[in-house]
Amino acid sequence: MDVRAQLVMVFNLDKCIGCHACSLSCKNIWTDRKGAEYMWWNNVETKPGVGYPKKWEDQEEFKGGWVADGHNLRLKAMGKGPTLLNMFFQPNMPKLEDYYEPFDFDYGNLYGAKGGDDQPVAEAFSQITGEKMAHIKAGPNWDDDLSGSQVYASADVNLEDKKIIEQYSTMFMQYLPRICNHCANPACVASCPSRAIYKRGEDGVVLVDQEVCKGWRFCTSACPYKKVYFNWNSGKAEKCIFCFPRTETGQCNACAHSCVGRIRYVGVLLYDAEKVEQALLKPDNQLVEAHRGVILDPRDEAVREGARKNGVPEQWLEAAEKSPVYALIKEFELALPLHPEFRTMPMAYYIPSLSPVLTSGGELHELVEHGTIPTREALRAPIGYLASLFGGGNRDVVAAALEKLIALRIHMRAKNLNQPTDEASLGKAGLDEAGAKRLYRLFTIGGYNERNIIPPQQREELDSHTRKGASGFGILKKTGRGKR
Ligand code: SF4
Ligand code: SF4
Repeated sequence: MDVRAQLVMVFNLDKCIGCHACSLSCKNIWTDRKGAEYMWWNNVETKPGVGYPKKWEDQEEFKGGWVADGHNLRLKAMGKGPTLLNMFFQPNMPKLEDYYEPFDFDYGNLYGAKGGDDQPVAEAFSQITGEKMAHIKAGPNWDDDLSGSQVYASADVNLEDKKIIEQYSTMFMQYLPRICNHCANPACVASCPSRAIYKRGEDGVVLVDQEVCKGWRFCTSACPYKKVYFNWNSGKAEKCIFCFPRTETGQCNACAHSCVGRIRYVGVLLYDAEKVEQALLKPDNQLVEAHRGVILDPRDEAVREGARKNGVPEQWLEAAEKSPVYALIKEFELALPLHPEFRTMPMAYYIPSLSPVLTSGGELHELVEHGTIPTREALRAPIGYLASLFGGGNRDVVAAALEKLIALRIHMRAKNLNQPTDEASLGKAGLDEAGAKRLYRLFTIGGYNERNIIPPQQREELDSHTRKGASGFGILKKTGRGKR
């Protein structure tokens, strides 16, 4: 057992209102600079949709992530041959138009224009070339709230039945906030020929050393989530840093702090690095279970001892015990990995959305009122669609999470209205009274300190752990990549 500690974020998609406060707080702090204008380390996509950059989920096109090749994992786009051939040209990179050409408006003209017959306007100009842009062709949220859905939503790779979004009676929509997943098996780290990108031992955060980066852009190509960006001004790769200057002092990430819907949970997970590679060799539809198998119980004394041996501080073990993310991912099996079939083992997890509340059998709240649990087939967002996003195609793991959420709603509604509760239905969905109470608190009235349990770091004491832990696990250990 090789116990590692990681800071992990969970997103409760039922509560995301698509306000983009998270994206804006991130942009204001980290990417409001030259060369980074087009970067959104945190972005919020409307699903179905193509996202940002467009069609990032299509690995036939972008060739990101890993593939299971017999008893080994290999980067989809790389072997020795392609690595050398691609040194000066990355054929699978998204192009600028797949993101968008960043623009601003010439507000000065509103005040400084010479007098004339026409009302002065603030024309758009490119933040890259400085040239005026007569026609803006795209933005980071071009398909927000299903705008242009005939073009964008129908190109969503997760959507089997395109007809479903062509008529209002069957249309569905939900939001998908995304950050770098700070994966346990990061393709970006393994692909970097300069070893500039690394996963740090003390909290699992994946960072780019700006001094070492040579701008080869293998990381951008290899990341299947397209969460490493190329700064055209500095010539270096940049990515989400999980707000480490904040988390090191025990504060949660800016995106989580500003989240209007309070959908985000941040906490510690302990996992067994020795099991990562074997877990990722499982077939797609077994990957969610495989992820769960790698996560360790922080109350198990053998796990705690293993963690101590690897230099995990006591304060982190205490935080792991109380961790909201451990509860949501492992204990309640509600939070699922985004596209586990990319095999990077993402360390950000999503509670799939029940919304929109309409089902083909009637409105959800009406069904709940009558104590009816809609069947998985009756939910408006097709279960196959959610399984493609969060289950590696496994419908059962997604359905089990949704059934738990519905049972919780029915139970808490009955309690709040002083109506009789049905323990049997709760039990059928895998919950009990205590579990329902705990989840209800986490989802509703739980405050900042319950949603975010982040132990501060004392870097001077963590030094040995940092060096020892330096992401030398599994496949990265073999390639020697990821060590810093
Ligand atoms: S999502 Fe994973 S592979 Fe992509 S940049 Fe983040 S750590 Fe690397
Ligand atoms: S701030 Fe929260 S609720 Fe608003 S879009 Fe971001 S994740 Fe969703």
